[in-house]
Amino acid sequence: DPPTQTLVEMLDVSVRRHRRRVALEFFGAETTYAELGDQVARAANALRKLGVRRGDRVALVLPNCPQHVVAFYAILRIGAIAIEHNPLYTERELRHQFEDHGAKVAIVWDKVAGTVVGFPRDVGVQTVVSVDVTRAMPLRIRVALRLPVKKARDSRTALTVGRAVAGAVAWSTLTDASRINRRVAGPELGDIAVLQYTSGTTGSPKGAILTHSNLRANASQGEAWVPGLRPGMEVFYGVLPMFHAYGLTLCLTFAMSMGARLVLFPKFDENLVLDAMRTTPATFLPAVPPIYDRLVTAATAKGVSLRGIRFAISGAMNLPIDTVTRWETTTGGLLVEGYGMTETSPVALGNPIGPSRRPGTVGVPFPSTDIRVIDPADPTVDRGIDEEGELLIRGPQVFSGYWNRPSETAEALLPGGWLRTGDIVRVSADGFVTIVDRIKELIITGGFNVAPSEVESVLLSHPSVADAAVVGLPSLSGGEDVIAVVVLAPGTTLELDDFRAWAKSHLASYKVPRRIEVVDELPRNIVGKVLRRVVRTNLLDG
Ligand code: ATP
Ligand code: MG
Repeated sequence: DPPTQTLVEMLDVSVRRHRRRVALEFFGAETTYAELGDQVARAANALRKLGVRRGDRVALVLPNCPQHVVAFYAILRIGAIAIEHNPLYTERELRHQFEDHGAKVAIVWDKVAGTVVGFPRDVGVQTVVSVDVTRAMPLRIRVALRLPVKKARDSRTALTVGRAVAGAVAWSTLTDASRINRRVAGPELGDIAVLQYTSGTTGSPKGAILTHSNLRANASQGEAWVPGLRPGMEVFYGVLPMFHAYGLTLCLTFAMSMGARLVLFPKFDENLVLDAMRTTPATFLPAVPPIYDRLVTAATAKGVSLRGIRFAISGAMNLPIDTVTRWETTTGGLLVEGYGMTETSPVALGNPIGPSRRPGTVGVPFPSTDIRVIDPADPTVDRGIDEEGELLIRGPQVFSGYWNRPSETAEALLPGGWLRTGDIVRVSADGFVTIVDRIKELIITGGFNVAPSEVESVLLSHPSVADAAVVGLPSLSGGEDVIAVVVLAPGTTLELDDFRAWAKSHLASYKVPRRIEVVDELPRNIVGKVLRRVVRTNLLDG
């Protein structure tokens, strides 16, 4: 069924239904749903006073924190469009995005407010609101996160004094002075709620236009997918950044629609998560494979229990079966994989949560979601069962285009509302989808296609390999050579000739990496995806 509520109405329902329940927890500081509702109304009023109107774009440059949630819903409440940014981006990366969307008001972590204030005039930012994210953080947490600790005569004031940023308005003075005003015209279902930038794995990030209807639909589809969730009773951990599509929907909007307690982490750190597990244990944890691995290792080393996390939802990259086994034996809960992209708000497919799931696949389409598998060279040709082809998706969560990019939009959206994912998949007779790799990252060698992820998973199965990335580099004979870079498991060594021989026994010869290099670490983006294009450039630059 198509959604009937905007994200704002969805929050209002939870505020009414769960008034006294805790909506947000941040290092022990709690905000109830009633308080959240009031803060959003106040902040919405403050934004109106700054001149923000329906359809205006407002930029957010914040880690996960309570103010982030309040600002996000305040923007939506007055019918404006929220644009999330990674606060760890460099000045150049941030400026690029601001030039693209042209927001006039930006709500920014005080640590980076100076950067935004310093943008050239023609970028168009008129008002910068700086948020003292660390205000509610205990000193030991700031130290653990290596956040700047303001020197003050009295250590108590050091925790409460906001950093004054020249040229910026402080969020607290803005909202504290504002009254609650509930009579503002809100958005409609078809209005744009967010411009959500893609991860920039294959190129520069593109702003996906997502409506209230898209995002609300995906939260409802999520509820249908995870059937055992109890409204008002769940504890969600927000370790994924809300400035990424995955965290925005799976942590924030999903938690708010369930009336859950959302425990916010400004960044993933296993020790912070284990600390929180001792006081308010999670019941629902959306994350990515490296996070699940790190949590199991740390919890085992420290003797902290992860029991009680009933559902762990993995996405964004393929989930190794080893990770599933370790997680499920340690926690007693389920770890299931889904698939999605920013352009699908973000989830489109998910493994059934229960005995019919099939690890190694991403499961079946979400409710109301249709898929097709086509020949990437000719979208009119459909592939059969178990044949590889490009995945197409159609459903209420599919976006309506990229901001300012008509030609990329036309390439991505086929007539009839089908989204070209750019991912190669195959579908079994009973409808389970296996992700092979991205079309853009397939390696063409001697006329064969090699999926880097297949080679990577073989290399990863070697006991001395902790991490691996496989890319194609221009070959002397034309085409590309398969090249691997690996990170060694702690305390192990690797004899490269023996290792290649071992790889040969597991892979057809054209897939065996021609060259293997050992590195200390792989470049990853903020949600942990390996950036193969960076691996490639590093290899080319020698
Ligand atoms: P960009 O589009 O800017 O290059 P991106 O595609 O990484 O970046 P996202 O929208 O965050 O940006 O990621 C979507 C992509 O992530 C999918 O197209 C797919 O390649 C990959 N992906 C998502 N879920 C899975 C999964 N479960 N297994 C394998 N790959 C996945
Ligand atoms: Mg993409």
